[in-house]
Amino acid sequence: MDATELTRLRRKLLAMREMISDNVGLEVADDGSSDEGGGDLSGNPLDMADIDALYEDDIADEVEQDIIEDQEDELLAIDDALEKIEKGRFGACESCGCAISRSRLESVPQARFCLLCRRVEEE
Ligand SMILES: [Zn+2]
Repeated sequence: MDATELTRLRRKLLAMREMISDNVGLEVADDGSSDEGGGDLSGNPLDMADIDALYEDDIADEVEQDIIEDQEDELLAIDDALEKIEKGRFGACESCGCAISRSRLESVPQARFCLLCRRVEEE
């Protein structure tokens, strides 16, 4: 995998990371812009409460929690992948050490295992 390819996948990982971070609401190093303390000129605070009420259901909470956990795992995998790119170890299966196929990295750049090892993991 050449440098151009790596740069492109790195950019993809960073974009994914940002997107997931936004969803999970984790602190990401950014310019610290926030909506806090802004005067609400529309004067209609009920809107947000109504939206929140939709989610005040145990099942919804549970599902949401699962999604957040999945996304946190995903973030860790993305961070790992970014670190591997830095260290020039990107694309090697963490289990058998073989090169993960390019098409797999293309769709899942944060993949830790090759398809074979992944299948073993899941069984
Ligand atoms: Zn493997």
